[in-house]
Amino acid sequence: MSQAAEVTIVNVGYRSTNYWVVSAGRSRLLVDLGYPGTLGIMQANLKRMGIPLGEIRYGLATHYHTDHAGVAQELKQLGVPLLVLEPQVAAIPLMKQLTKPQDWYVDISVHDNVTISFDESRSRLARIGLAGEIVPTPGHSDDSVSLLLDDGSVFTGDLTPWPLVGLDEADIVAASWRRLREQGARRVYPGHGPMRPMYAESEL
Ligand SMILES: [Zn+2]
Repeated sequence: MSQAAEVTIVNVGYRSTNYWVVSAGRSRLLVDLGYPGTLGIMQANLKRMGIPLGEIRYGLATHYHTDHAGVAQELKQLGVPLLVLEPQVAAIPLMKQLTKPQDWYVDISVHDNVTISFDESRSRLARIGLAGEIVPTPGHSDDSVSLLLDDGSVFTGDLTPWPLVGLDEADIVAASWRRLREQGARRVYPGHGPMRPMYAESEL
């Protein structure tokens, strides 16, 4: 490809949770991966938005809680590789403890994921046409990461909205938000709720 394709952002979310499809033309990344047992809903929403599963180059979970990585394994089985950041590996097996049999959660295997370091994320994203990187943003959980595009869009999962932060996590959450600000984040696409502008430096 000679020219970088324009990046588009589409929400295929449900049950008050956002699942963002970030696309460079027909090369797509799915950020956050559904509730357990809801593969059919995810597939229907993708179809309704005109997004073939075969165009999704990776699935990325901002963190391994059930509402963000619930159908990761089933998507893998349908040909969508799971992009995992090294600090997330240990969190994956813990997901099972957060589910009940009636949730129909399919356990995520760990040997067949695309596991990368944060340093590798820029080149990995470039290969699918996206200019940006994946950065560690702990606070809500130790394994939380954000996808930060060079155009200022940032996908933060459940990184605690600053006005709602608890005292016990305030320092670490503030550090994550400051890091995103310093690295150019301007528009926040959270795991729940609407897109909003990035916090001003004076707010943090
Ligand atoms: Zn969470």
